[in-house]
Amino acid sequence: MHGQMMDMPLLISSIIEHAARHHSDTEIVSRRVEGDIHRYTYSDCNKRSKQLANALSASGIKAGNRIATLAWNGYRHMELYYGVGGMGAVVHTINPRLHPDQIAWIVNHAEDSALFFDLSFAPIVQAIADKCPTIKHWVALCDADKTPAISAANDLKNGLTTGVVIDIKSYEAFIAPHSATYHWPEFDERNAVALCYTSGTTGNPKGVLYSHRSTLLHAYGSCLPDAMNVSAKDCILPVVPMFHVNAWGLPYAGPLVGAKLVFPGPMLDGKSVYELFEQEKVTFSAGVPTVWLGILQYVGANKLSFSTLKRTVVGGSACPPSTIATFRDQYGVEVVHAWGMTEMSPLGTLCKLQNKHLNLPVEQQQKLLEKQGHVIYGVDMKVVDDAGNDLPWDGKTYGNLLVRGPWVVKEYFKADGGDPLQYNAQGQGWFPTGDVATIDVDGYMQITDRSKDVIKSGGEWISTIDLENLAVAHPAVAQAAVIGVAHPKWDERPLLIVVKKPDAQVTREELLAFYDGKIAKWWLPDDVAFVEAIPLGATGKILKTKLREMFRDYRLPT
Ligand code: AMP
Repeated sequence: MHGQMMDMPLLISSIIEHAARHHSDTEIVSRRVEGDIHRYTYSDCNKRSKQLANALSASGIKAGNRIATLAWNGYRHMELYYGVGGMGAVVHTINPRLHPDQIAWIVNHAEDSALFFDLSFAPIVQAIADKCPTIKHWVALCDADKTPAISAANDLKNGLTTGVVIDIKSYEAFIAPHSATYHWPEFDERNAVALCYTSGTTGNPKGVLYSHRSTLLHAYGSCLPDAMNVSAKDCILPVVPMFHVNAWGLPYAGPLVGAKLVFPGPMLDGKSVYELFEQEKVTFSAGVPTVWLGILQYVGANKLSFSTLKRTVVGGSACPPSTIATFRDQYGVEVVHAWGMTEMSPLGTLCKLQNKHLNLPVEQQQKLLEKQGHVIYGVDMKVVDDAGNDLPWDGKTYGNLLVRGPWVVKEYFKADGGDPLQYNAQGQGWFPTGDVATIDVDGYMQITDRSKDVIKSGGEWISTIDLENLAVAHPAVAQAAVIGVAHPKWDERPLLIVVKKPDAQVTREELLAFYDGKIAKWWLPDDVAFVEAIPLGATGKILKTKLREMFRDYRLPT
């Protein structure tokens, strides 16, 4: 028997409509590529998203078409989220830090019909324009008088161009002739709304196609008090880019609750972000650990404090325990460690204390808070052995982490890469995350490693994340990575790779001694290599594949 309730589809247009109606004068503040600050309201955002939807329809864009973006966090990008998604087309956010050849590959795989780009990315457009035949409209996110002139170039290295001038419109000229009156269409909530390719350190990137339903359910879940806990009292600054899994859903969660939004544009250095925190009275933020290291360094070096910031979500890679402690002890800011993936929209778990933990000593609370945390209702997880058998939730037994839920991928775009799921005896499909983790009796999950990164020494696992977390707590260490290096007796042994802080001095022996008493003796790295820089991927994560290549022939001391 069916329930007898209204069957309104869960569409993202309802979020911006809601914000425009109930939080009409709440602001969206953006630092623009031009360097100035732009402000307007949810009501303005809704109107301009509708203008964009009209402009897209007039340009022949239809439901289901993919519209690419190469853009920082900003109000026009937000309008693309709602204008494109709201009309039934698909906003395809592309990571501009990828190589132009990869970007061209992704555009062609997605068969994007139009590409909207920030002026910073004009060189990428120049590099890919003659390789992307499906793109009918190139639109620069700027005023008409700033429209760049770009000629397609197929041999940038030697400065040779095809001489073909690309027809570029400015965003403002593109939407200006169109009305702000538009009725968001109703359609099946399972239709696609957004597309994001995985960073793919091996093989071709894979497209994850989010639906309106998955996006809305994720947005609801992410706002829960034991998840992001955002409300209309908050001012949210997503440092995490809108091209990296929809800025962890904050452009949807913000208007859903009516929070003020602050977009930092291209300037993600410690000083610029800190200034926005203070000027706009930001209460909540989110980003990867490396960004927070930069912000903490700036704030520490200049003896500043955070006057309004209360909470920040840190995820994307393991949050060093020292970051949690520094934020709490020196600045009174709560760090919420989170874990997720492009394939999970992205949020899977966040780490918050429960009632029974409130009276624990700070050190024990800290141990819990270092974990990746608890699933949000809607995500189910388990750890299994290589044969797929469930492993106990004892906080000790490592296994492959599997997930399922309404905002977890079922199949990659165009079904490329085959069926990604693993099936149990009941035929239930689970998504193998590629992460190795423990789950404790209270359901707190802790990532040990990517399965590809874990070090197997004499058949036993060593967690590179634990070793890295300890190393970055040393005052002379700016960045640390641990990889397995071939060893004749143990198969693999850990090598610690370190970037020192500017002007800091530290020796191999001092760093190894720093591990004393903190880890089992056999986990101790066999050697330390000092480097100028550690290679980072397009989403700011350490590129272990590259490091393993660099140190492939490294001889450990015997
Ligand atoms: P991506 O799809 O690019 O966001 O990458 C997802 C992967 O990042 C996960 O499968 C994890 O390996 C890693 N990751 C994300 N958050 C965390 C975290 N808090 N701790 C450790 N690894 C993380």
